[in-house]
Amino acid sequence: MISPAAIEEIQGAGRARRKPVDAKTGFEITSEFQRFNQKYDMFNRAVWDDSVRSERSRKFFESYFTDLAEFRAVEGFQHRDYALRNAAWYIADFTADLLETSGDRKEGFLDSYTMFREGATRKMEASAEENSAEVKRAGKFLGADAIGICDYDERWVYTHNYSRQKLTDKEIDLPDDLRHVVVITNEMDHETIQTVPSALSGAATGQGYSRDIIAVLSLTQYIRNLGYRAVASLNDTALSIPLAIQAGLGQYGRHGLLITPEFGPRVRIAKIFTDLPLIADDPIDFGVTETCNICRRCSAACPVKAIPSAAPSFDTHDGVSHVKGIRKWTINAKQCFTFWANQGSDCSICIRVCPYNKDFSRLGNRILRWMLSNRWRRMALWLDVKLRFGRRQTAGWWWRRPAAG
Ligand code: SF4
Ligand code: SF4
Repeated sequence: MISPAAIEEIQGAGRARRKPVDAKTGFEITSEFQRFNQKYDMFNRAVWDDSVRSERSRKFFESYFTDLAEFRAVEGFQHRDYALRNAAWYIADFTADLLETSGDRKEGFLDSYTMFREGATRKMEASAEENSAEVKRAGKFLGADAIGICDYDERWVYTHNYSRQKLTDKEIDLPDDLRHVVVITNEMDHETIQTVPSALSGAATGQGYSRDIIAVLSLTQYIRNLGYRAVASLNDTALSIPLAIQAGLGQYGRHGLLITPEFGPRVRIAKIFTDLPLIADDPIDFGVTETCNICRRCSAACPVKAIPSAAPSFDTHDGVSHVKGIRKWTINAKQCFTFWANQGSDCSICIRVCPYNKDFSRLGNRILRWMLSNRWRRMALWLDVKLRFGRRQTAGWWWRRPAAG
């Protein structure tokens, strides 16, 4: 358990700023707070915990790596759908597998990335303001769709990594003197997400990860080339969502996901821990909490009712796979993962139906987003239903569409 004094110290991180960071993010954290051990991540529990592990979950994982012997006779779960999904995951799987057997490192998912060249031996001297602007410029150039900066916050760093080779905890290998975190998001494809539930929609997840990895590895190498230390991380090492919120990239939704102004909940997140002098961004508020208070489209649409329809609480379901001591909407991760395993692919129904899941390059959708941020919110939610946003498209619809470009 992290001590109340430490929580107070971290909540005041960014001392020069007017308000402590939790006052800006809305996080309500008590002295019961405990950091998360990655062993209890649902994907790891599916390896060691008999209450989660099943023949279905084994097949679920296997389906990403093997020639599937059987495809379901329903649209969206056929040979070409799994072929595309697994191709979209290829970069993420390739980088995760590189050192898994030889080094007990599943980089990007259980361990931070180590695949870098030596950086410069002499540090480039510039102000924190200049570095912040340049890192954002470089990050966009190298493939990040959005980029923000926050202070290092120990609360979100896992207590331990997990080894699926040895089925044991591993020490976290993150130095504790990297004072800043650069957080990036990359969009997942809008059209394939519209076909959820389907194996085809899993291609959006894989493609989002792959784009994230290219951006985070390149930007980490850039920071190292400036002569500073930088540790690149995807799902490993620390919880990404609170860091992204603190870095001003979005707000927390009822479905437990980051909601960004640019892409709604349709993003993947990566982060870089660094000692490059930087200025933290401010968290943003574009009305998500107020929308979620009255919306509930995700909790109504979830096929296993894993998303709470009540107010934020300290409920942690089976008390294992969630961070304790934070008042928030917490999904039942066990029910969610069991659904994924049973259907043979990941599910993003809660992303598909979310009113923030729109193509905001369109003016009409930007107007709806603006309405969601103010007193027109109920009207925007009514229109969202009337105009049938978030409805499911078929995989055949997607495959027949002309390729962009
Ligand atoms: S991913 Fe699917 S099963 Fe999981 S919470 Fe969202 S809608 Fe429910
Ligand atoms: S579907 Fe509605 S309640 Fe759920 S996260 Fe999106 S806006 Fe919030």
